[in-house]
Amino acid sequence: MPTFVYMTRCDGCGECVDICPSDIMHIDKTYRRAYNIEPNMCWECYSCVKMCPQHAIDVRGYADFAPLGHSVRVRREPEKGTISWKIKFRDGREKDFVSPIRTTPWGSIEEPKDFPAPTEEEYTSQELWHEPAALKIDALPTLAGKEKA
Ligand code: SF4
Ligand code: SF4
Repeated sequence: MPTFVYMTRCDGCGECVDICPSDIMHIDKTYRRAYNIEPNMCWECYSCVKMCPQHAIDVRGYADFAPLGHSVRVRREPEKGTISWKIKFRDGREKDFVSPIRTTPWGSIEEPKDFPAPTEEEYTSQELWHEPAALKIDALPTLAGKEKA
């Protein structure tokens, strides 16, 4: 579900340009308003939607999620620590979803260079980096004990 910008709401602040991981939110040089230059390349991460202080970015919902005539709006309220999505269907029904904003402090995540280099054994392991510790379990589930087909 790629994004689009209501140009009448956008004030050209550039927050969406800075945060877009796909580098597809650009400022139109003539109108000084943002627009999605390549919707096909949208990661659908909605970072821009959540970041926009003017609520100027909207989502084109797929038919199975929100049929034609719908709207998908988001409200980010950092002071409350919440982000709310409102889905409005064309028959007037509304669904509201409220989630907590992730509060990991900026710059608090350790960089890869802060960790020791992987061992030979870790290079060939099926586990991802930090597994299983990051999952807060002792070991990943295995098929051990199950009969092979
Ligand atoms: Fe960029 Fe993500 Fe917004 Fe798509 S949803 S335009 S990838 S920030
Ligand atoms: Fe416009 Fe919102 Fe992007 Fe700022 S973040 S440039 S107001 S669309």
